[in-house]
Amino acid sequence: MKIPFKYKNQHSCEAVVLACIDFRFWKETMRFVEEELGIKTYDFPKMPGAAKAINECQNEVDVAMKCIGVPCDLHHVEKIVIVNHADCGAYGGSSQFKGDLEAEQKFHESELQKAKEKILKYYPGKEIILAYAKLVDEGENVEFIKVD
Ligand SMILES: [Zn+2]
Repeated sequence: MKIPFKYKNQHSCEAVVLACIDFRFWKETMRFVEEELGIKTYDFPKMPGAAKAINECQNEVDVAMKCIGVPCDLHHVEKIVIVNHADCGAYGGSSQFKGDLEAEQKFHESELQKAKEKILKYYPGKEIILAYAKLVDEGENVEFIKVD
């Protein structure tokens, strides 16, 4: 199989997007990043729990932090996007919250904030965009909510 390499001689991209490995969310995350955030070129590492992996890093050589650091150092990204999602198995799933969707969202928001602070310590000056992929309409749709 041979496919045209559309990024020939291009070594920079706009952003790095760190998402969870969960198959149910990553294609939808790409749509959010491209259509809602308007980011067309990005590195796209995935670690279980996204923000969780960052928050568990001891230093900048831990693999999750390298997922951010390599795009910053090699691809000169200016934006760092972190996406957590509802019913994330890395955090024990929605059942941890006993059906309290608001509590689940609040928890993920605080996890995302923690990850942001940690990343800014190593990579100050970058624009950090946080989002939570929430299941809505009885699980029929995924709604991406930006977290300030
Ligand atoms: Zn997950």
